[in-house]
Amino acid sequence: MLIEPPVKGVEVGIIGGSGLYDPEVIEDAKEYKVYTPYGLPSDNLIVGWLAGRKVAFLPRHGRGHKIPPHKINYRANIWALKSLDVKWVIAVSAVGSLREDYRPGDTVFPDQFIDMTKSREYTFFDGPVVAHVSMADPFCPTLRSILAKSAESLGIRYHGKGTYVCIEGPRFSTRAESRIWKDVFKADIIGMTLVPEINLAREAGMHYATIALVTDYDVWADHPVTAEEVARVMAENVAKAKKLILDAVPKIPKEGEKVGCACEESLKNALV
Ligand SMILES: [Zn+2]
Repeated sequence: MLIEPPVKGVEVGIIGGSGLYDPEVIEDAKEYKVYTPYGLPSDNLIVGWLAGRKVAFLPRHGRGHKIPPHKINYRANIWALKSLDVKWVIAVSAVGSLREDYRPGDTVFPDQFIDMTKSREYTFFDGPVVAHVSMADPFCPTLRSILAKSAESLGIRYHGKGTYVCIEGPRFSTRAESRIWKDVFKADIIGMTLVPEINLAREAGMHYATIALVTDYDVWADHPVTAEEVARVMAENVAKAKKLILDAVPKIPKEGEKVGCACEESLKNALV
């Protein structure tokens, strides 16, 4: 068996969501099996170069979409990226829309989330070391702004803000639940995979932002959609996500460059 030497010096991690399993935009790609204290990540990591920057790609559900949202080993995924020195994480995610003006095909860079998951491993700090990290502003403002500028310059229809409600799944919401997320919680988009990925990235001192790709309206809207329509929107969305990543990655601050956010200092006042 070939054991690859450990890879270091990777700057940017890309976590692919539904529809994005293929890191074809990565040059000189090599595949690594990364072991972590939490077991194996969702798949081997693909490490290579993108626009002159060293990146690692990980398909969140595994290639072939074999792992459902509630069974993803989020701790192993974030640990694996961290072990390659990744500081910046761009997470791609397919979402449903909870508002009329966030249309199928739109891109959202959420700035808040509401956690409605039920049974996941939420932290690296299960004791004896206890940490309470701040999640007041859970997404990296630096990375969100880079992504929004890229969307602007590429002419991609986007929303620079949004609240993502993360449900447990794997089932979709009932109509009653969907109305709660929309009318009571005032959330804008809905998905199943943000939490605890984002918590763990924060604990790991990483800059984390999501490219949320709207595939359809959630059931509140009562817009019946065909599988064919959803598949078409998904394919277009994945093409947009790849363009965005190609444009945004070279704009990410390099090691040693000044950044205006505190993501890397998340543990400073968090340890008990
Ligand atoms: Zn940041």
